[in-house]
Amino acid sequence: MLTLAYLPIVAFVIIVSFELFWPRSTDARSDVHRWLSNIALYITNKFGSRGIYLLLLAGGMKINGAQSATDDGLLKAASITLAVLVLFDVLDYAKHVMLHRVPFLWRFHQVHHSDSKLDFTSQFRFHPFEMLLSMTLDVSLILLLDIPVYAITAVALIGLTWGMFQHANTHALKGLDRYARLLLVTPNLHHTHHYTDAAAANKNFGVIFSVWDRLFSSYLSPGSLTLDTPQYGVIGLNDKGNLNPIDLLILPFQASNTVTQVGLDRDQSPIKRLNKKS
Ligand SMILES: [Zn+2]
Ligand SMILES: [Zn+2]
Repeated sequence: MLTLAYLPIVAFVIIVSFELFWPRSTDARSDVHRWLSNIALYITNKFGSRGIYLLLLAGGMKINGAQSATDDGLLKAASITLAVLVLFDVLDYAKHVMLHRVPFLWRFHQVHHSDSKLDFTSQFRFHPFEMLLSMTLDVSLILLLDIPVYAITAVALIGLTWGMFQHANTHALKGLDRYARLLLVTPNLHHTHHYTDAAAANKNFGVIFSVWDRLFSSYLSPGSLTLDTPQYGVIGLNDKGNLNPIDLLILPFQASNTVTQVGLDRDQSPIKRLNKKS
């Protein structure tokens, strides 16, 4: 477990190196305003929603009397961790679909999508309310199933690492992408989810495993798209330029905010329609 604790740090160094030496786009590099907004939201979530999450978890575990269960044995611990990873991944898939389908929830999730360029810092761009909602569901499931602490910690570290990687501005592992995305949500796959075009953005909801998108018909292969220069972000928000942290926090509550991807289908898409090769 101690080794796994270093995973996000090692991954951070690798991802930053990938972005520096094999960038997908050089556009996202010097955008200090974006970085500041993303880091500000990260800090807000770290000390706000995350703090409440830990309190809920600690309080609940005290009631449940759950222990760390480090003496489960390697095989059993690995099996439980894998099962928890799969369980939370399908839950994350379902949450993500709802965040796009329900207009009220989309108001908050659009903060994540409002990043007009993508790099690993986009992983931290979430509205605190979305984090709180998501964590409340997670904590409820953890307490209900009495999931061991080591499995929760491992899954959280893997999730953080994968989140930074799938948003990364890099082409470093491009050659492996078509094989990896048979099972995993690769950067290439997740980047299509951030396109302004609703036909692409309302696909590929998976977080770690791509199997849920394939199973529930929301999979869109990046290879089937022929967009010349795809744009990232949200239609109607990109024109406003870089949104500062305050803008992002109040964005869901603005009465004038009619920006939505909900309900937009391919025919209504105001941006260039997606062309399929076949
Ligand atoms: Zn989304
Ligand atoms: Zn994303």
